[in-house]
Amino acid sequence: SGQPLVIANWKMNGNRQLVSEMAEALREQQQLTADVNVVVCPPTILLPALADACYYDAVAVGAQDVSQHAEGAFTGETSVNMLREAAVEYVLVGHSERRQMHHETDAVVADKLQAVTSSGLKAVLCVGENAEQRESEQTFAVIKQQLQQALSGLTATQLSHTIVAYEPVWAIGTGLTASPQQAEQVHQFIRQLLTELNTNVGEQMQILYGGSVKADNAEQLFAQPSIDGGLIGGASLKPDAFIAICQAA
Ligand code: 13P
Repeated sequence: SGQPLVIANWKMNGNRQLVSEMAEALREQQQLTADVNVVVCPPTILLPALADACYYDAVAVGAQDVSQHAEGAFTGETSVNMLREAAVEYVLVGHSERRQMHHETDAVVADKLQAVTSSGLKAVLCVGENAEQRESEQTFAVIKQQLQQALSGLTATQLSHTIVAYEPVWAIGTGLTASPQQAEQVHQFIRQLLTELNTNVGEQMQILYGGSVKADNAEQLFAQPSIDGGLIGGASLKPDAFIAICQAA
């Protein structure tokens, strides 16, 4: 639904050089950035550099994570207001790497989603099953649990500031993309759950696919009726590859 959305998640990669290269490459794509909502999520420390580099361009700045707390004694963390001051518009919440390696539970993810969406920033809620869960046919149960825990406490306005990214864990950084049919099946399931929550939400919320999206598989994925864009890891570190993916959207 709406304009396609393609988000670069650099994870802990990149530097000021890549910020400049990406900004320059996207500046030459004015028609593309008018037709597709393009967001780049660099590491936190590069956010101001990216915001400066993209100041005059139709490229939005995104953060990879945020604290669920407003302020205080939380060493190493970054608050929603700090991100807002850095011109951030989008925040990834509950990425599988945060869930796995930083022990983010569904409850923490829900708190972060509250913090982001009540501030007017857009949250990108990441959900997805791992290989073992898919093999034991728990995919739908896992997705349902993750979505319900995260979304149930949100108001209609907060939901209108939320985007869902389906990222099967087994497809992240592995080169094993979900087939367009596999992805579409889960996206349809997600849309059905969202509709049960709220009819408007089900119609309007954007649902992105992530997991080994590359220039050569993006078009088929984005052609699926329930896939509204992508969340791109490895391939977003090369401006040419990232632009090719945006062009496929
Ligand atoms: P890859 O595109 O490297 O598989 O990463 C996907 C991802 O986790 C984006 O958030």
